[in-house]
Amino acid sequence: MSTPIDNASVAIFKDLLATAEKIVMVMHVNPDGDAMGASLAMAHCLRQLYPEKELVVVSPNHYPAFLGWMDGAADILVFKDNRKGVKETIITSDLIICMDFNALSRLEDLGEFIASTAIARVLIDHHVQPVKEEFLLMISDIKASSTAELVYRLMKPLMKEPMSLPAAEAIMTGIMTDTNTFRDNASNPETFLVVAELLQLGVDKNKVTSNIYDNFSPSRMKLLGYALGEKMVLLPEYNTAYIALSQEELNRFNFQPGDTESFVNFPLNIKNMRMSAYISEQLDGSIRMSFRSRGNFSVNDFARNHFNGGGHRNAAGGRSTGSLNDTIAAFVAQLENYKDELQNTL
Ligand code: 5GP
Ligand code: MN
Repeated sequence: MSTPIDNASVAIFKDLLATAEKIVMVMHVNPDGDAMGASLAMAHCLRQLYPEKELVVVSPNHYPAFLGWMDGAADILVFKDNRKGVKETIITSDLIICMDFNALSRLEDLGEFIASTAIARVLIDHHVQPVKEEFLLMISDIKASSTAELVYRLMKPLMKEPMSLPAAEAIMTGIMTDTNTFRDNASNPETFLVVAELLQLGVDKNKVTSNIYDNFSPSRMKLLGYALGEKMVLLPEYNTAYIALSQEELNRFNFQPGDTESFVNFPLNIKNMRMSAYISEQLDGSIRMSFRSRGNFSVNDFARNHFNGGGHRNAAGGRSTGSLNDTIAAFVAQLENYKDELQNTL
């Protein structure tokens, strides 16, 4: 079972909530379903608990369109679009709740701004190796399937009435997306007990799945076909595969943020694959990388050690400032150092 959320931390969290008049929820850059789900669920719960308080949800950059259906998404303040407004919101707040990331560096320049203020920060997260010094209080459980599950376990006992449907839907979204629809990171019975309770609260599982997975544009499906059909490179000697896409290729398929979400998972469906990478050129020319693994091979260590990143053992991300081709070459060259692990572990 997961580590219980300890009573002392909950007591401190309750005090911080009770004394704050304005509370900001902030999520990591390129928010995914869990960052969005956990942040919006927390905001919905706090609104229910404290109707008099001012609650604001902030994201460093825009969330992907496929999460736009979520209740409260339209009110999220996006730092990249409104730097002045977000800074103003933050400096006039009394508490910042940091959702689904383990270091302020995951917020890029928004993180630098937050670090320069003296406002109390609470971390609610499930990533490994959180940076303790950056937070007044940490509610961190690396065994939780998702930060959204953690929000449920933390907030349920604090609520005076049943959690609202938008909060429950947001939690369901976080759990579903972070577990790759219960395929990864969902071996803990507690996750399913939480899901059972979400269904009891009225969550329509089919509506949530449909909103998340049956909401793509035709060009995204064609991009997926191209990525798998023409761009997937298999490296059987390392039980690894990767897909790399340039800006030119992404543009050809009218790329929108979120379109390549989950591309990295597909190569792992091939028998014996241990690691998969999705490597993409960003608008500013920098390179983003997503890593996934099966079994004991830690892509968290791999991303931390070689690509300025991190995450979880089986799902991590990183970046590089080299060209796309140099990054691919650096990635492939590193595999040689992990050959034994990649051949032998599962
Ligand atoms: P994704 O590949 O879906 O972007 O990210 C996979 C996991 O790794 C997520 O839990 C995400 O929060 C984490 N992650 C992605 N990029 C980074 C990074 O640059 N640094 C750290 N520490 N975690 C990352
Ligand atoms: Mn997460």
